[in-house]
This record gives sequence, C-alpha cells and structure tokens, in this order.
Amino acid sequence: KAKHEGRNRYSFFSDELESALMHRHQLESLVRSALKNDGLEVHFQPKYDLASKKIVGAESLARLKDSSGNYVSPADFIPLAEESGLIIELGRQVLLNTCAVAKRLAQLGYRIPISANVSAGQFCSVELENHIKTALEENELSANLLELEITETALMLDADLTKTKLEQLKKLGISISIDDFGTGYSSLAYLKKFDVDIMKIDMSFVRDMLCNKHDYEIVKTITSLGLSMGLSLVAEGVETQEQNDALLSLGCGTGQGFLFSKPLPVEDFVQFVSKANGGL
Ligand code: C2E
Ligand code: MG
Ligand code: MG
Ligand code: MG
Repeated sequence: KAKHEGRNRYSFFSDELESALMHRHQLESLVRSALKNDGLEVHFQPKYDLASKKIVGAESLARLKDSSGNYVSPADFIPLAEESGLIIELGRQVLLNTCAVAKRLAQLGYRIPISANVSAGQFCSVELENHIKTALEENELSANLLELEITETALMLDADLTKTKLEQLKKLGISISIDDFGTGYSSLAYLKKFDVDIMKIDMSFVRDMLCNKHDYEIVKTITSLGLSMGLSLVAEGVETQEQNDALLSLGCGTGQGFLFSKPLPVEDFVQFVSKANGGL
C-alpha cells in the first residue's frame, strides 16, 4: 500500500512539474508570437491630480490575450519575457505604443505625459536609449511627454550602472519615476545620487493606509521623504475617496487607481480623456 501511495505521489509531482513547464513553454510561445504578429496590446490608466480631479498623466500597461481570448496577467508574462530575453522587443513595442498615444492626445489638445514601465533587463540593455529615441522621433513627440517607470528593485541592482544610465536617459529630456517605492531594499544614500523626478508609492501601502496605522505611517514617511528630495509623488491603487483625501493631506498630489479608472484599451482611453477634460 505504501508503495502504491509512493508511486502516486511521485506521479503527482511529476505531472505538476510537467504541466508547469508546459505552461511556461506555452506562455513563452504566446509572447513570442504576439510580438511577431502585432498581438501585443497596450492599455492605459489615467493619473489624477487628487485636488482638482483632473487627468494629469497616464501609465501604459502591457496586455496579452491567450488562445481563448482571455487576458494573461503581466505579473505572469513580464517575468517570463524578462528571463527569455523577449522583454527587449516587448519593451520596444510598448514604447512605440506609448509615444503614439501620447502624440494622439497632444494633437487633440491634451498634453499629458504618459509613462512606460521598464524592467530591470530592459533598463540595463544597450538598446533602450535607441528604442526611446526612435519611439519619440517616429511619433514626433516631445520628450517631456514621456516618462519611464523603473522599479526601486531594478534601480538598486547596480548603483554605478544606474547612475550612468539615468544620466544618459535624462539627457534625452524624459522624466524618470521610481515604481513600487517602499517594497524593495533601497539605500537612501543612493537615492540621493540618482537623478529621478517622481516617486510612486506602492499600492500595498495605500490599500490599508486607513485601517493600518503602520501603513499610514509608511505612506506619510515616503511622502515627506520624496517631497524633501524635491520629487513629485504618485500614489498607486487609490480605490476610495477617503484614501484620496488622506493622501492629499499628507502632501501626495497625484494618484491612479480604480477610484478613477481601470487601465483602458487605447480607443476607450482616448475617449475617456476627451470626455473628462472637456472637448472633442
Ligand atoms: P505596476 O507598474 O506597479 O502597475 C500597477 C498595477 O496596478 C497594474 O497592474 C494596474 O492595473 C494595477 N492597478 C491600478 N490601479 C489599481 C487599483 O486601484 N487597485 C488594484 N488592485 N490594482 C490597481 P497590471 O497591469 O496587472 O501590471 C502588473 C505589473 O506588471 C506592473 O506593475 C508592472 O510591474 C508590470 N508591467 C505591466 N506592463 C508592463 C510593461 O509594459 N513593461 C514592463 N516591464 N512591466 C510591465
Ligand atoms: Mg508602473
Ligand atoms: Mg507600480
Ligand atoms: Mg506596484
């Protein structure tokens, strides 16, 4: 009997491993073919001035559909794209899409900056600078309408390289935002040396800031740190009016989250901005 159970257990783990590998392989093929066949989608989530409730920016977010038409989470396919090297091409396409949409809005009279997420591997790559230049040039977009979001963790991987890279990117005229601030191991000493413009307070602190004293204190501390360093602050994951008001009173001027809008497909997003900011 024991032997029987043992065999079952063995085959259970084996199946599990096999299906995990299958899934990985399928997902990688999905990313690869989307990149080849214009199948990558980019959605856009507006950022709001928390006081005036005006749209003051947006973030682009990669989206991918599987063969049954369901969206796969970027939390699954971005790390995989990163490991397989596909992130460079994925990032290039995201940058082109982001600049194209920023240009469309500018032409409609809405000159708001749009940020694109840049992963660690992309940030370190030698191609990034050219991909940015090309995306700006092809869309005749002025560089001050493009921002990059780089996670705190990615920035801290190699401080010397980060410093050089940031100087190179800042010369192009774009702005840099530290994404998911507070979740990584940041050295405050390095932070002072990096030429960044915006700090994004991670959603995990915003979520419970009104029911958890510690989260509230963390949001408060990040905000005052950012402000004292001359940075703008953006809160992620703002879901309630109470959070909006608390953030505002702490000095965080900008937010994005389901209170305002989910990330939207391009056409919906352009319409949404036009309606919200009056016009068309
Ligand atoms: P992120 O850059 O921190 O993006 C914010 C995430 O929070 C997005 O998830 C967004 O849909 C979600 N979100 C926004 N507001 C709310 C809210 O009020 N409540 C909740 N619960 N969630 C909210 P998404 O689109 O699933 O992306 C997850 C992560 O995947 C991103 O985190 C980013 O790290 C990565 N990612 C997405 N697109 C790209 C991309 O084009 N390139 C790279 N390198 N990474 C990307
Ligand atoms: Mg982001
Ligand atoms: Mg973030
Ligand atoms: Mg986050």
